[in-house]
Amino acid sequence: MSVDVEDWFQVGAFEQVIERSSWDSLTPRVERNGRAVLDLFERTGVKATFFTLGWVADRYPALIRKAVEAGHEIASHGWDHRRVFTMTAEEFRADLRRARTAIEDACGLSPSGYRAPSFSIDKRTPWAHRVLAEEGYAYSSSVAPIIHDHYGWPEAPRFVHRPLADADLLELPVTTVELGGRRLAAGGGGFFRLLPYRFSSWAVSRVNAGDDRPAVFYFHPWEIDPGQPRVVHAPLRSRLRHYTNLKRMEGKLLRLLKEHRWGRTDEVVARERDRLQ
Ligand SMILES: [Zn+2]
Repeated sequence: MSVDVEDWFQVGAFEQVIERSSWDSLTPRVERNGRAVLDLFERTGVKATFFTLGWVADRYPALIRKAVEAGHEIASHGWDHRRVFTMTAEEFRADLRRARTAIEDACGLSPSGYRAPSFSIDKRTPWAHRVLAEEGYAYSSSVAPIIHDHYGWPEAPRFVHRPLADADLLELPVTTVELGGRRLAAGGGGFFRLLPYRFSSWAVSRVNAGDDRPAVFYFHPWEIDPGQPRVVHAPLRSRLRHYTNLKRMEGKLLRLLKEHRWGRTDEVVARERDRLQ
């Protein structure tokens, strides 16, 4: 189970309408929402991974420390949500280092995991896993092995693999299911909010029991916040994706957390590593 820790104005869907330079002038909700997420995990006894933006760790270190104290894993989501395929290898390296420093300063722990903003490691970034290995990461959960309008690497393996022949780095792609010859996204995000609960729950069971693999699921703190400010000038499609079913999200998540077994990504990676050997 994982949370991509970013605020309502930092999402890929609003990238074209909200400048990074304006972020500090917008009403922050991530600390409040992050605490609500911690509460959900406490109520259900779930330990999870918080893939945190360096930008967020820098401004809200108390939230990061609270997650660590509660037994969750802190991993990196990059510095300021720049998608990997928009950067050069060296810019990516600098982004990783800046985020790592902010996370270390916030909680005293160094992340061993990384998730690319908007699953932006794909065939356009053949250097990305190499840079992650060189920067000391043990795993990445940055690939969406599907066709999607914003992201995706449909040729990538669906389950854990070693993307580099000469390094130990593991890639743990976000969960998909195969149905009638088609591969469908089933690891969270907008799909979880838009589709009926029973689809996601069925997909997790199918991956666990049918494929005998852990499911890799993610959501965002802003998804349980119906009171967040509305970005009225964003394209309709982005607004539909961002705001649909926010009110029902918390109840759905509670059910998902209770009805399946979940753990931290680093622990899942350790088990998968044993299996690969
Ligand atoms: Zn993100």
